[in-house]
Amino acid sequence: YRAIAENVVKKTNNAINRKAPLPVGAIEHVARTYNEHKRLQNTLNAKRNERSIAGERLRKAAAKGDVEAKNAALVEATQLKGEVSELEAALAVMENELLTLALAIPNDTHSDSPLGPESSAVTIATHGPEPLPSNPERDHVAICRKLGLFDLESGSTVTGSSWYYLLNEAALLEIALTNYAMSIAIKHGFTPVLTPDVVRSDIASRCGFQPRDNSDPPMNQMYHLNTPPMSPELVLAGTSEIPLAGMFANKVFPSTTLPLKVVGMGHSFRAEAGARGTDTRGLYRVHQFTKVELFAVTTEDGSEAMMKELLDVQKTILDGLGLPFRILDMPTEELGASAYQKHDMEVWMPGRGSWGEVSSLSNCTDYQARRLHIRYRRQTARTEAESPSSSPTTLPFAHTLNGTAAAVPRLIVALLENGAVYDEHGELTSIRLPMTLKPFWFGQDIGRDIIEWT
Ligand code: AMP
Repeated sequence: YRAIAENVVKKTNNAINRKAPLPVGAIEHVARTYNEHKRLQNTLNAKRNERSIAGERLRKAAAKGDVEAKNAALVEATQLKGEVSELEAALAVMENELLTLALAIPNDTHSDSPLGPESSAVTIATHGPEPLPSNPERDHVAICRKLGLFDLESGSTVTGSSWYYLLNEAALLEIALTNYAMSIAIKHGFTPVLTPDVVRSDIASRCGFQPRDNSDPPMNQMYHLNTPPMSPELVLAGTSEIPLAGMFANKVFPSTTLPLKVVGMGHSFRAEAGARGTDTRGLYRVHQFTKVELFAVTTEDGSEAMMKELLDVQKTILDGLGLPFRILDMPTEELGASAYQKHDMEVWMPGRGSWGEVSSLSNCTDYQARRLHIRYRRQTARTEAESPSSSPTTLPFAHTLNGTAAAVPRLIVALLENGAVYDEHGELTSIRLPMTLKPFWFGQDIGRDIIEWT
């Protein structure tokens, strides 16, 4: 809060550049509330001190049998006790208010990030083979229908539109892609984790995901579970970044144990309220998908290098799939609340006739760590902790980063649209898949013989 209170102008300009959905005057309000909180905290400390002095006087008077002094001290101690409780209650209300306001204030922004909306994204690099020409025949929906790779109708009957069943080779492809992505991450030193798909909405908020957006009326971007009134509000995780970040909450790490690198696999649930148009056809924008996610906890000095390391892992994964892709530096209005810097990767999808986002990489610096209380104690390999006695609340906050290793349905779209093989009559005959997936493909003989490994 101090950082916000001391940088009102800078934080306000940053929020404007990011088009952050902030209530008017929110940043000044945090500054005022923080200063008032500080003042009340000092008063509380003084009152607690007076209360313990009165308590001491009471004990001494009782020991001496001095009834008058004892009664006077008792009156004073009782009054101070009431004042202390009132101040504690007022501070608790203020702390809640500060937390709610601070959750809405976005992270600072990297000086390299372009200003503006999605169209201002800057291409940092392009990789892979020459993109195929656009060709609506390569549309993944047509390919899936022809080869029996999904069942949207049953998805619709059983759950609703944009829910799906993967069938046959598409089901095997999901398993192969997740294992392939996990294996590359593990080779790069990431520890595998399977995450819960249900999280407390409070943890989601602290990671920078607001369970309800700021539209009027607010739309639920997350699925809420109906939980009994006294239990914590639960939501379906929109990304395993949330349970992965939450795994480190309220912990202090010796700096020599950092960075911590984990690769999680979980299901992502997106209400996608308000989504319409061609993106919602087939598998491109769905309500549930399997995602392999990279997550790292590091020090302030280590987060720029970790951003590069995560990008390298993502590049290795996509390079191995032989797909044409480009890396974008995302502009301010696309950063969400938590990212200080964000790079997306887009794969060419010839059936859609466009580049489609398949992954996202964010350096959240200390945004999530401040809200989840993830700290570290500076240590060197040879020396003891620099300040072994420092209280946890004075230790620096860690930096957290997250990046997609594999968002399965979009990768299936890309592999099908780029890998479809047609005969001289324009008939779809098979799908070419990269050899890198073959070791992760069990049950290649499901009696259809439509996969060619290249
Ligand atoms: P995000 O956490 O929103 O950055 O998403 C990570 C990746 O998941 C994106 O880069 C997309 O590839 C994929 N993705 C996001 N939303 C959806 C969706 N509704 N359906 C399918 N894939 C999605």
